[in-house]
Amino acid sequence: MFELIFLGTSASAPSVHRGLTSQVVSYRHQRFLIDCGEGTQRQILRSGIGFRRLNRILITHGHLDHILGLAGLLSTFARWEAIDDLEIWAGEWATERIKDLLFGVVLRGARPPMKIQMKPIETGILLEENGMRLSAFPVSHRGPGCFGFVFEELPHRPFLPDRADELGIPAGPVRGDLVRGQSVTLSDGRVVTPEEVLGPPRRGTRLVHVGDCGRVDNIVEACHEADGLVIEATYLESETDLARKFGHLTARQAAELAQQAKVGHLYLTHISRRYRVKEVFEEANAIFPHVTVVRDFDQFTIRRRE
Ligand SMILES: [Zn+2]
Ligand SMILES: [Zn+2]
Repeated sequence: MFELIFLGTSASAPSVHRGLTSQVVSYRHQRFLIDCGEGTQRQILRSGIGFRRLNRILITHGHLDHILGLAGLLSTFARWEAIDDLEIWAGEWATERIKDLLFGVVLRGARPPMKIQMKPIETGILLEENGMRLSAFPVSHRGPGCFGFVFEELPHRPFLPDRADELGIPAGPVRGDLVRGQSVTLSDGRVVTPEEVLGPPRRGTRLVHVGDCGRVDNIVEACHEADGLVIEATYLESETDLARKFGHLTARQAAELAQQAKVGHLYLTHISRRYRVKEVFEEANAIFPHVTVVRDFDQFTIRRRE
C-alpha cells in the first residue's frame, strides 16, 4: 500500500488554486518527492507533512516547472532542516540543469550544507529495499531523458492460518517465524517448513507515475494493471493540435491509456488554467470511469486490487 499526496497540480505556471508540480509517494517509512516545481517548500509546509525524510527526490524531466523549487528547498534545508544526505534522481539532461541551478546559482562554489548525490536515472530498477522496488521507464515528451516511475511492493506469500491449524501449529511467535521463512520445531518434535503454511506468491501494490508526456502507445506496457496511475492531462481534445505541438496529453488520451492498460484508478494532474476541472473530468470519465482530477493537497491510499 502506498500513500500519495499532491503538493502541486498546475501545468507550466501556478494559478491561484494550484501550485507547480510536486507530489510525495510514501511506503512505510520511506518517502519520495517526485518533481519539485517552484514553491514546493511552501506547499510542503501547508500540507503539514513536514520536511523529515524528504531526502529522496525523483525528477521526471528537466523543464523548469518541475525543478525550480529545488533551489529554495536546498537553501531551506541548508539553514534549519536536519537532512544530512540528499539524493536527486534525474535523467542526464535534467541532471545538467539541476547541477547548474544548485551548484551554480544556489551554492556558487560554497560547500553544500549536506551531502548531495546526483543519481542518474536509466531504464530499469533504480532501487529495491524494505519490501519495495522502484523502477524507471522512458517517456516521450520534449527533449531527451524523460522518465516515468513504477513503485511496487515486492510479491509476498500469504500465511495460511487454516493450514497452520490443521498442522497443529500454536498461535504466537512460532507462526511469526514461519512467516519470516524459518522452519520451526514443534513441542512434539515435528519440524514444519514455511513451504507447508505459505500460499503461492501474490503480487504487491503497483503505483505508476508519469510526468509530462506526449504519447501513450509506448507506455501501455509499463502502466499495465497498475493499481494507481498518475499522469498529466494538460489539454482537452478540442486542442489536440496544441497538445501534440508541446508534447502533452489530452484528458481523453490519458483515459484511453488507463483503459488499455487496465489500471485500477487514474489520477490526472498538471492541469491547465485554460479549462474548468469539470471539463477535464468529463472528457476522461466518458472513456474511463475510475478517474479523479486531482487538486493540491489531495491525498490517496493506493491498495492492491483483489
Ligand atoms: Zn510540466
Ligand atoms: Zn515538461
